[in-house]
Amino acid sequence: MTLSGKTTYIVEHLDDELGPWSELEYLAIAKESHENGSQFCLSSLSSAFKVPEALKAVPSFTAESRSVEELYAGEKKARVCLLDPAAAKDLSPEDGETFDVFLFGGILGDDPPRDRTKELRVKGFEGRRLGPMQMTTDTAVRVTRMVAEGKIPLLEVPHVDFPELRFNEHEATQMPFRYVTDKDGKPIMPQGMVDLIKKDADKAIDDLF
Ligand code: SAM
Repeated sequence: MTLSGKTTYIVEHLDDELGPWSELEYLAIAKESHENGSQFCLSSLSSAFKVPEALKAVPSFTAESRSVEELYAGEKKARVCLLDPAAAKDLSPEDGETFDVFLFGGILGDDPPRDRTKELRVKGFEGRRLGPMQMTTDTAVRVTRMVAEGKIPLLEVPHVDFPELRFNEHEATQMPFRYVTDKDGKPIMPQGMVDLIKKDADKAIDDLF
């Protein structure tokens, strides 16, 4: 815990712009952090970065132009855990006592993964993995919260890999990620994400003609 007694989730924004997918992911992280009494910080924002109004409106959200190594220099660095798909150790409930701050790469998932988390790994933060499958950033934060704060062992977090999103009888798409599931076994996604994925899929089909 930090001096404020709250766990901080920090996403270092590594893309130049804020795409609509990332915007929905960040909003979901902000709302869930606020609902759970933790803080969400988006770091390393350029002066040109426009913070969406909906994100600004979430009380426990902060936008930071400083990078994570400026924010957590010196002895504070040891309290930061980088969630890293290439880390040697998986996250455990005990890590909630060792770390106050959980750091994630603000990058969209890609298939196959390009290991852009390396940009944060080279800064020397202690790393933990969330199992072998790639997750979206909001899913990675959700799982970290369940394990570090909710004390649920990683292997007991309910999940689905490569879920299919079916839009209608003829249209479906498969997501190349792991998601936490809700009580009905459905993948948890940010509000508005399924519509956005459908719109992008329709556009890709239109572009073929
Ligand atoms: N393909 C990406 C890459 O280039 O590294 C993975 C990006 S993932 C969409 C965004 C962030 O979520 C990562 O930077 C990492 O912090 C976290 N993440 C996703 N899956 C993870 C896993 N299995 N273990 C640890 N962290 C993970």
